[in-house]
Amino acid sequence: MNFSKGDFKILSQSKKFYLKHPMMLCSLYDTKFLNSFLQKKMWPRSCECMFCGSRFHNYRLHGYISELAEKHKVSLGPRFSDCPYCGSVDKYRWLWFVLQNHTDLLKSYGGQKLLHFAPEGPIKERIKACFKGEYFSGDIMAGRADYVVDMTEICFENNFFDYIIACNVLEHIPQEKKAIAELKRVIKSGGIIILSFPVAFDMNTYEDASLSEEEKIKNFGQEDHVRIYGIDYVERFERYGFEVKNLLPSGLMSKREINKNGFKHVSPILLLKKL
Ligand SMILES: [Zn+2]
Repeated sequence: MNFSKGDFKILSQSKKFYLKHPMMLCSLYDTKFLNSFLQKKMWPRSCECMFCGSRFHNYRLHGYISELAEKHKVSLGPRFSDCPYCGSVDKYRWLWFVLQNHTDLLKSYGGQKLLHFAPEGPIKERIKACFKGEYFSGDIMAGRADYVVDMTEICFENNFFDYIIACNVLEHIPQEKKAIAELKRVIKSGGIIILSFPVAFDMNTYEDASLSEEEKIKNFGQEDHVRIYGIDYVERFERYGFEVKNLLPSGLMSKREINKNGFKHVSPILLLKKL
């Protein structure tokens, strides 16, 4: 059995958590070892990674306990979600599931345009390989994407894109209203903006960009987050004038399917259609 650096990080940050949930400790054992051992004992391999197709008994533990996750019912915190074979994480597999099953993005014809904000390696390559149109990636930091793009001042003309993907970006931006106005300006009528962000399901959205880094970690889960979205998140985006589709694994599939795909605590994905 092997321990990774991440496992020690999780363990050292979450002693209290493991005292409360001792069964979670089993995830610190190498899952491949358990898989090969337990396979012989006929424990069914009920998990199946949609990226690499591997079947196994459980996903590996990902994330660590935070004050925010302990206080609120939030889509963050430790969960069994990493594939032990390809290392894929739940948020990418969940996004892929939505793109495949709830948008036409992967069935698009040439000539369409997609802007992908803050693209992270594994999902960027997967989307680029399947999207038939023109792919643009953008990030506020130089060197992280094809274009340096500030979401509050997007350097593209009006009605330019058919699709925009911005996952885990908006919670970093103090001027949400300005960012949404810009997204609305550059997306075509009928175009789809795909958004996700952490949500606390027991409170309304709380934001304050003036908090200290320490306070931001406590209230928003990260030192560079300026808000935590709450249960009012759908109304919030409807007020910006979009037709909103709110997608959550619990609303789309059985518990068995959720466990099979490792979609335990993933954030909702919103599809905003410009009318
Ligand atoms: Zn995998």
